[in-house]
Formats: sequence, structure tokens, C-alpha cells
Amino acid sequence: MSKIVDVLWTGGWDSTFRVIQLLFQGDDVKPHYICDPGRASTSLEISAMHRISELIKADSGLKGNLLPISIVDFPDFEKYSDIEDAYIDIMKEHYIGEQYKWIADYCRYENIDSIDISVQNNPFIRKNHSRDDYPFSVIFRSLKFPLITFSKSEMKKWCIDHGFLSIIEESWFCHSPTRSGKSCGVCSPCIVVVEEGMGYRLPASAKIRYHFRILPRLKSFLKNYPKFYTYLYKLKSR
Ligand SMILES: [Zn+2]
Repeated sequence: MSKIVDVLWTGGWDSTFRVIQLLFQGDDVKPHYICDPGRASTSLEISAMHRISELIKADSGLKGNLLPISIVDFPDFEKYSDIEDAYIDIMKEHYIGEQYKWIADYCRYENIDSIDISVQNNPFIRKNHSRDDYPFSVIFRSLKFPLITFSKSEMKKWCIDHGFLSIIEESWFCHSPTRSGKSCGVCSPCIVVVEEGMGYRLPASAKIRYHFRILPRLKSFLKNYPKFYTYLYKLKSR
């Protein structure tokens, strides 16, 4: 019998990987998306999830059912003072993102026993997420980190081997998209995409911005070639 797994889906690479992995195993997936008030990429993340959902439904290799996404606005769920206190107590030891606190609030408010968070490559979370002492137990009680020991290249290889690369490549990654809805090339997830050898996922304008960023002297060099500079500049600001 298939089980239903709650997953925090952001429309990004890692959580999209987790959704595909569970559906491939035959589990049903209940995705949750919490709108981050500080992020400009919300609408692009939501449209990526809708695109990916269509591709998933059309893929006969994915046996599990993808249930409708619960999209919640940050003010729509209760914030609990003991969760706030525990978060502050963890922060006295080590910085963790505020989203962990919200997710803990959300799980308590919605009575969710367990939700998959697709964080990887975070030594502090890796070391402490399964602790059952205060304050960790309060924040991490319902949060599961199934990808914490995975690397991006392992995920990519798995997707290639199983034929899901074209689906996962619809995921959204940029945190500060341009006004026309393209990735920027200079925020940290964009830089990760290039460093992971997936720079082909950036539009030409973002690739140019990326290179301007890491090669500041390129700009003064290019000024000796005004026509070429103008050409690049136009692409960059498109
Ligand atoms: Zn970006």
C-alpha cells in the first residue's frame, strides 16, 4: 500500500528531486508551499511547480500520485511562543534560517507529524536535526531531512539514469529574478548552478552578468572595444 508523504516543495531543484524520488518509489506526495514574504521569486516558483506537476502526471515511470499543492501565506498560520523561544536558543549556538521556525509553526498548526525538507550540504542541520533534547526537539520534531547526505551530482546522476532530467530542469533556482522573470546570474543559487556545471540553465543575459561579476577587470578591458561592450551590455540588461 502506498503511503502519503508530506513534502515542503519550493519549486527548486532539491525539493523537486525529493518529490520525483517519492513518486518513483510509489509513494503519494502531498506538497506544501509556504510563501516567503522576503522573496521576489514566489510567482516563478509556483509556476515552475505547476509546469513540473503536468510533466509528472504525464510520466508513466512515476507510480505515486501527486496531490494538489497547499499554498499558504505566511500570516495564515499561528506562530507559537515556545517555538520562537526554542529558535532563539538554537540561534545562541548557531545561525539557522528563520524558515525552520515557520515550518515548525506550520506543522503544529496543520497537525503535520512529519514533513520532508530537502536541505542538503548543511553540517549543522546534519549533526543536530535528529536530537531529542531542547531546543532542537522543539524546532525539528516534525522536520525530516531525507536528502541531508545527498550531493547535487548524485541527484543529477539519478535523474539522468531514470530519465527525469528534463522534468527536474524545469525547477526554479534564482532568488532575485529580473523584472521579465529571468534568472539573474549573480545570486547564490545562480552561482551554484554555474559551479555545478549547469550554467546552460541560465539565459544568455544571466551568463553575461555572472561573468561580469567574477571578472571585474573584464569590464574595463571590454571598454577598449566599445561596440562589443555595447552588445554585451544590451544582452545583460535585457
Ligand atoms: Zn539569481
